[in-house]
Amino acid sequence: MEHYDIIIIGLGPAGATFARLVPDKYHILAIDAKGEADQYRKPCGGLLAPDAQKTIAEMGFHITKDLLVDPQIFSVHTIDFSSKLERHYQRAYVNLDRHAFDMWCIAQMPDRIDRSMDSRVIRIDWQDGNYIIHYRTRSGQTVTASARYIVGADGANSLVRRSLYPTHKMRTYLSIQEWYPHQASHPFYASIFDPEVSDCYSWAMYKDDCFIFGGAYPQAGARERFDRQKKKLRDYGFVLDRPIKREACLVLRPERVADIVTGKHGAYLIGEAAGWISPSSLEGISYALISARELARHFPDMPSYRRLKLKLFGKLLKVPFLYQPTLRRLIMQSGLQSIKVKT
Ligand SMILES: Cc1cc2nc3c(=O)[nH]c(=O)nc-3n(C[C@H](O)[C@H](O)[C@H](O)COP(=O)(O)OP(=O)(O)OC[C@H]3O[C@@H](n4cnc5c(N)ncnc54)[C@H](O)[C@@H]3O)c2cc1C
Repeated sequence: MEHYDIIIIGLGPAGATFARLVPDKYHILAIDAKGEADQYRKPCGGLLAPDAQKTIAEMGFHITKDLLVDPQIFSVHTIDFSSKLERHYQRAYVNLDRHAFDMWCIAQMPDRIDRSMDSRVIRIDWQDGNYIIHYRTRSGQTVTASARYIVGADGANSLVRRSLYPTHKMRTYLSIQEWYPHQASHPFYASIFDPEVSDCYSWAMYKDDCFIFGGAYPQAGARERFDRQKKKLRDYGFVLDRPIKREACLVLRPERVADIVTGKHGAYLIGEAAGWISPSSLEGISYALISARELARHFPDMPSYRRLKLKLFGKLLKVPFLYQPTLRRLIMQSGLQSIKVKT
């Protein structure tokens, strides 16, 4: 059994960024369930928010144009079913190919880090001061490795979080997305609020030749809620028949800063595995990047994550203005910060 200083579990933006930034004195193994030519792709809107752009700039990184998809859209069309109001707001997202972005994050990792792609961690044990990690490779072989430290960057359904905090509960939604052939002469990005279907929200956007409709729904009856939302959107001109593919995954939505769990006993959690994600927009890439950078800076000490906690707190304060139907109606009625879009 090979022994490492650190085993990183999960190479999304959080795990790959930690691997890139952690000091080079550590002997590291990084394990991820996805492979290069892969079937598994993270279901994601792939919109890089200003905070994520700023973090990439602060880290001295730059992304290349092959990670971008068409079109770059600078406004969001907001539809509120409860008040029947619609507004447009200016936004400054970068529209990415999310899988290409994940692969780019992995490609930036130093060569000295051992990797096991197409491999899923199935069990974590603790023995004589070390973590024993059991993972299954693509060929079906079960391999075991040990490490003094582990970093759980394995996303919303984190095995590391569930192993460390078996009784910890966080509000969790099922996110469902369908991909359709491109369908509008004027592509748009929309966010849809319909409390009758979900207390979170749905979205529609374009990526190259495809139109994506998705949303986050309470897990009970999620698929029925998704189908109901699609039906209701017909009245707004959405044509949501014959999808090319449907994808789904869990997405977390913290209700308080105390929901975040960052690890203990030499095991660390970063990115969505820790619960870091915006409760107002479900934007998680900036949280993944910032939590990875903070941990790499302080490792093996636990960072305070002060800036990230403040950012999350700010988003928690914003939630009622977006999701409380009366407040949302008042804001949309006022036209505050909205823009006029010629359609
Ligand atoms: C439908 C949807 C749309 C979203 N849209 C946006 C958006 O537009 N912009 C934005 O900023 N955020 C968005 N988010 C949130 C964002 O996708 C996540 O918060 C972000 O990807 C978190 O990054 P991460 O590195 O922590 O985890 P992830 O990106 O989830 O990466 C986790 C990695 O761990 C691996 N893994 C998991 N379990 C194991 C295991 N047992 N063994 C080995 N490997 C494992 C997975 O293969 C994966 O590569 C969206 C989320 C959803 C669900």
